[in-house]
Amino acid sequence: MTILVAFMSCNTKKSEIEAFDELASHVDSAISPGDDFFDFANGKWFAQHPIPASESYNGLWRMIQDSIDDAVKHICEEAANTQAAEGSNKQKIGDFYRTGMDSMAINKTGISALRSELEMIDSINDIVSLASLVAYLHTIGCSPFMEAYIIQDDMISDKYAVYLMQGGLGLPDRDYYFDNDLQTMEIREKYKSYLTDVFQSLGSNPEEAVSKTDAVMKLETSLAKSSRKLEDLRDPFANYNKIDTIKLKALVPLFDWPAYFSTANISRPDTVIVGQPEFYTNLNKELKATPLGTWKDYFRFHLIKSLANYLDDSTYLQNFRFYSTVLRGVETPRERWKRVVSTTNHELGELIGQVYVAEYLPAGTKEKLLEIGQAIKSEFETRIRNLDWMSTTTKEKAVAKLNSMIFKVGYPDKWKDMSALKIENDIYVRNVIRASQWQWNDMAAKYGKPVDRTEWVMYPQTYNAYYNPSNNEIVVPGCNILVPGYERKMADDAILYSIIGGSTFGHEITHGFDDQGSKYDEKGNLSNWWTADDSIKFFAKTQMIVKQYNEYTVQDSLHINGEATQGENIADLGGIMMGYEAFKKTQQFRVGNKIAGYTPQQRFFLGFALGWMINLRPEALMTKVKTDVHSPAKFRVNGPLSNMPEFYEAFSVKESNAMYRNEQERIRIW
Ligand SMILES: [Zn+2]
Repeated sequence: MTILVAFMSCNTKKSEIEAFDELASHVDSAISPGDDFFDFANGKWFAQHPIPASESYNGLWRMIQDSIDDAVKHICEEAANTQAAEGSNKQKIGDFYRTGMDSMAINKTGISALRSELEMIDSINDIVSLASLVAYLHTIGCSPFMEAYIIQDDMISDKYAVYLMQGGLGLPDRDYYFDNDLQTMEIREKYKSYLTDVFQSLGSNPEEAVSKTDAVMKLETSLAKSSRKLEDLRDPFANYNKIDTIKLKALVPLFDWPAYFSTANISRPDTVIVGQPEFYTNLNKELKATPLGTWKDYFRFHLIKSLANYLDDSTYLQNFRFYSTVLRGVETPRERWKRVVSTTNHELGELIGQVYVAEYLPAGTKEKLLEIGQAIKSEFETRIRNLDWMSTTTKEKAVAKLNSMIFKVGYPDKWKDMSALKIENDIYVRNVIRASQWQWNDMAAKYGKPVDRTEWVMYPQTYNAYYNPSNNEIVVPGCNILVPGYERKMADDAILYSIIGGSTFGHEITHGFDDQGSKYDEKGNLSNWWTADDSIKFFAKTQMIVKQYNEYTVQDSLHINGEATQGENIADLGGIMMGYEAFKKTQQFRVGNKIAGYTPQQRFFLGFALGWMINLRPEALMTKVKTDVHSPAKFRVNGPLSNMPEFYEAFSVKESNAMYRNEQERIRIW
């Protein structure tokens, strides 16, 4: 069992730092820091650590995930080896994990483990009964037809609302159905081969399987055509269309909405929020135009695709070859235990988290996270007050929003009650389905109830963080304290203030003030609190960000989508600037001693690059650029730093360096 412990006191004595320094050991000194800081800071590590055949990336996140996986594995194995009381957390974790590791039973049962679902699809004999099927599939972790969920109403944050969004595609984004570059065309062909394989496994002969594939592909292409582009999903106003159920019926008259809500266990809503009405208009058209047989093939395919990870080896490998090898360049499957640990943690993370917090998080994690978070928050306030482009009226509102921002750190105060979930010692995929049903019902039951603002949507052992505009809150799970390479000795504040201060708290707080977050007020409601003049100035600044990132080439002719990634890029820039300001107040900065040859300033920027030390396979990089609102790691480092005079100073960046920007091109928003 390895535990990565980064937390200790922040008052570092020089003598405590050992001669070997993780940060310095990653530096590739053949590269000039002003030309490509990301490669300068991480190049040596990348050269020494090729991406494993079973992974799509390597780097800091992999190391942290490996250490979390080790901890979760230990928790799962311990539970599986215990005779635990029926219905106890241990029994659930143990049986879930045990059935996942039982490859003999999984292979013997094969697709027949989904017999009841396949029979349900077979028995559909008209368009009307299709709505219940869609609902049932949604409850078991498949999402064909559309995307439906219950979250806080964007306009009334103390009420839950039913959201109906575009969805139902098997390829990662609508653009994959239309882009005509060679790579995308090849991906489309391979996707079709995967569909054909699935239909053959379900009993079609090769000819039938091909014709089913063509029909399903035609249907999905139509859904894709009526779907909005990634960047067009950013405007929360444009993707908020509240209608009553009479209008919903008029929008998709061929779909039995009461049957859908009833099977989905959602009490009949008066209103729903439709994200993209044109998508629903087209759904109705396809309900009429597409033969029922094709719809049934579409549902069969989506059922198998969504649950393939938990089925027999042959079904799993068909899916792996497309979604992991073609889309992410992964050569071989991960070991079974890693896959099962990841699924158990995903489905039962709330139960595993309780053990993780007690046994694996260093004491004082919450306090240290809060200390850094508060330091960043107070810097943010100073910066808002000193902005030269914003009026006092808007500043006051921005400060009010900042001051009412809630921090949730470490782990939740109360755990969710999962006593209604039954996990059996039978077959793996059935347990995955039971857990998905529990998750769905937990969500569905919220509708009509008061909003629970104490809820977490990440586990303490999730290495990530989020800003939720509806609650005006940032949530930082406990494991964010981990810094690999600094186990059992301390990471210095330069590292903690760049990764935890800048890239975590600073980044998430800035989300409250990015192109989307700035549209929500201090109470979490979508409303414009900006003066018209300040809005125009803010927009001009965000457009500069869009332009800067549009100009970055990722590989070959692939560019960053500056429009779609702007919120994350704004957060990256604001985060690291705030992190730096807070770091300036630490003792390490003031004393100014070098560690392993680097000044505190230099170590701060090296720490920032360490936080994004991630290298992806080319296939995964392409998929990321086309589907993810985050820029690739290199640009999350070089982009913000190219705008920071403090970075220029720390590494003597000159006009002749590739990252250099003229003063008037450098952006500072917050
Ligand atoms: Zn973010």
